[in-house]
Amino acid sequence: MSKKVHVKVGDTVYVRTGKDKAAKGKVRAVFPKTNRVLVEGVNMVTKHHKPTMQFQSGGIAEQEAPISASNVMLICEHCNRPSKTGRKFQDNGDKVRYCKACGEVIDVIKEAKKG
Ligand SMILES: [Zn+2]
Repeated sequence: MSKKVHVKVGDTVYVRTGKDKAAKGKVRAVFPKTNRVLVEGVNMVTKHHKPTMQFQSGGIAEQEAPISASNVMLICEHCNRPSKTGRKFQDNGDKVRYCKACGEVIDVIKEAKKG
């Protein structure tokens, strides 16, 4: 089984450490094998591109590089704080992610079996 990353694409996260400490951004990609995430506007690195027909002098472009998933925390949309998340089952059998700070359900991981 692959490791579970505690955030997923589309989550808004808070960066806890590193050069972009305290930055916030949306998760653009998750890499479960390496437990890394790509966060919008975080950990920008400069990439040099070879000259092309369009850009004959080549070019320098900035893009995000993945950071460790353990360095980010989900920002809870209910209490608007970087929060630890937990997983639990609801009465109807849905498995959900919830915010440990305010207790609100963040999203459904797995829907209850019907019937
Ligand atoms: Zn919360």
